[in-house]
Amino acid sequence: MMLAKTAAGSNRLSVLSVASEAVPLIKTGGLGDVAGALPAAVAAHDVAMTTLIPGYPAVMAALGVPATDAKRPGKGAAKGKPRMKLVHQWDALLGEPARLFAATLGAMPLLVLDAPGCFTRGGGPYADPLGRDWADNWRRFAVLGRAAADIAGGAVKDWRFDVLHAHDWQAAMAPAYLRFAPLADVPHVPSVMTIHNMAFQGHYGREIFSRLELPRSAWAIDGVEYHGGVGMLKAGLEAASVITTVSPTYAMEIRSPEFGMGLEGLIVSRGDRVRGIVNGIDTAEWNPAADPALAAPFTVRSLSRRAANKRALEAEFGLEPGDGPLFIVISRLTWQKGMDVLGEVLDHLVGVGGRLALLGAGDPAIEAELRKGAARHPGRVALHIGYDEALAHRMQAGGDAILVPSRFEPCGLTQLYGLAYGCVPVVSRTGGLADTVVDANLAAITADAATGFQFSGVDYQHLAMAITRAVGLYHQPQLWRRIQAAGMRSDFSWGRSGATYAQLYRELVSEAR
Ligand code: ADP
Repeated sequence: MMLAKTAAGSNRLSVLSVASEAVPLIKTGGLGDVAGALPAAVAAHDVAMTTLIPGYPAVMAALGVPATDAKRPGKGAAKGKPRMKLVHQWDALLGEPARLFAATLGAMPLLVLDAPGCFTRGGGPYADPLGRDWADNWRRFAVLGRAAADIAGGAVKDWRFDVLHAHDWQAAMAPAYLRFAPLADVPHVPSVMTIHNMAFQGHYGREIFSRLELPRSAWAIDGVEYHGGVGMLKAGLEAASVITTVSPTYAMEIRSPEFGMGLEGLIVSRGDRVRGIVNGIDTAEWNPAADPALAAPFTVRSLSRRAANKRALEAEFGLEPGDGPLFIVISRLTWQKGMDVLGEVLDHLVGVGGRLALLGAGDPAIEAELRKGAARHPGRVALHIGYDEALAHRMQAGGDAILVPSRFEPCGLTQLYGLAYGCVPVVSRTGGLADTVVDANLAAITADAATGFQFSGVDYQHLAMAITRAVGLYHQPQLWRRIQAAGMRSDFSWGRSGATYAQLYRELVSEAR
């Protein structure tokens, strides 16, 4: 297997991307979408990306090894599923026996880390079936990072990588191991550390340091030490050659305490080594013209077909038909996403003639408030608590406007899906929301540039005013259609960002030579 080898004289780069989730295998949020889409985005620019992900039971099963039969790779492979090939074994990866499988899923080359003591368990990637974070997450993801550093460092026969790209705190130990404990005699492998959300940093107590198998020198202010404990994201940010985050505005915001959440000093100190590259969306997966989830597929030239999707959505949520806009929300129900403020604004939303269909799960207190709101407004406000990918597609196709009142938003994807589906985004002016939605002020409408509504300040007053503005424009159908059309025509594909990542990898490789 020579997939990852850079041929002499070729301009093709090989990159090892390390993530704790990747579509279509496993997803809890935007990270999974991005890790799943990036390989194809950079392939167009002569970058061969292989994605390393943990062998959770769902991943092993999807790739042909039932979780119960994890000792016999390939044996349980259902027809049509890719076979996995064993390419490496560790007797003890931070004490954990582990195997590495290679597989290709569609066009996506994968390396799967099967460390049963870490990943063969029920629940989600990060939490047990009751939603409590696994107590040994530090160890599970340190094992992932150690494996990644070994692989990038050349431990696996015939596999060589030019760059390592780590995503979020769960992969952040990979650059840290590359810097502080590389395999002996390996050339320097440059690394990129991408922050998808600064709110999740992987902080643990000092006592885990000795179990990370790092040299004492790594216990330092420019190493893994963070306020007397271990900071896993912090370690990756210190060690990586370059830091990226998922929008230019968020890259600026994390220089301040409000958004940097304790790491703002580090971010400022890394200067121009911090870049913002906005996420794209998978335009094959999210294509309203050919979306199997929809009652009536449509394009920008057949927007009237959205009406059938809207009726289907109203019926699915038990909403009464109405003249006003149907707002949707697809979100984790958390403080970050401003879902507490959404709860406060429901009476206003209904009062100005709006209706709301919400899909989400998260904080029980926020969920309870939203349930109370729905009970006050039967037929006007309806909730679907849970996670449902196909329903998310149907909502973007049938809703008139999507509300995204986040307090901070590194990039945000739901507003991009809204743009692609003619579901007009109403967003707070922060992070990637500020970068991807053009506010419908008079000048922007006149120039046919407006794609949605922005408001600053995530509180009752500002969100209520934004909703009122959206309702007002909705009642001017010609203008509304122009906003929908401008959104659908804007470029939210991976094209430009794929090129930017590829360019970044090339810069790092030439720097390292
Ligand atoms: P974050 O990663 O912070 O949760 P993003 O907007 O970047 O937010 O990405 C969220 C992704 O998860 C989107 O693809 C969105 O459609 C999806 N999503 C969020 N909640 C749900 C849900 N309850 N059901 C289906 N998809 C959801």
